[in-house]
Amino acid sequence: MRPGRQPASSARTCAVFPGSFDPITNGHLDIVARALSVFGRLTVAVLVNVEKLPLFDVEERVAIIREVYRDEPRVTVDRFSGLLVDYAEAIGASVIVRGLRAISDFEVEFQMALMNRRLNPRIETVFMMPAESYSYVSSRLVKEVFQLGGRVSDLVPAVVERRLSEKYGTPIKSARSPVRRKG
Ligand code: ADP
Repeated sequence: MRPGRQPASSARTCAVFPGSFDPITNGHLDIVARALSVFGRLTVAVLVNVEKLPLFDVEERVAIIREVYRDEPRVTVDRFSGLLVDYAEAIGASVIVRGLRAISDFEVEFQMALMNRRLNPRIETVFMMPAESYSYVSSRLVKEVFQLGGRVSDLVPAVVERRLSEKYGTPIKSARSPVRRKG
């Protein structure tokens, strides 16, 4: 820490967890829980990304996440566009939380963190690792598995499974569905 810089009490620190969340998974929930064990308040911020073609639009993603955290007053759900550091500063967040699943996440996250530091050195990026059981979970994989008829109930909150079922028009696979084998 540079001389003259006061350590912030993390319990009073507001952090922001940005991402696409298309849709939110239990891996994201794991990171939110870890962030709440360190920081006082957390804003889950859905990126309005014009380049990506999302399954759920921003309003749907925000509504889903709000439903997941409706009983958690320390979590705020919002949307943002433009520079993340500008958004963080505007909402009074001094920490950006990101999840690191594997080494493959590292390079791009490292670049982004250094760029954000260059853009605004007052905002610190903190990486958190999920439980091993979520280290292979991604929104993309969840969508693919669900679409192909696989069970995702251990990987996403119930509301997401419901919304996936509505979106694709396919039923939710129950835990007891028999595995069909040929012959
Ligand atoms: P982005 O498009 O910003 O990567 P994502 O919704 O895919 O948006 O991810 C948002 C953040 O959550 C990223 O920091 C990502 O590394 C993290 N994340 C995604 N899935 C998991 C997971 N299973 N475990 C831990 N972190 C995750």
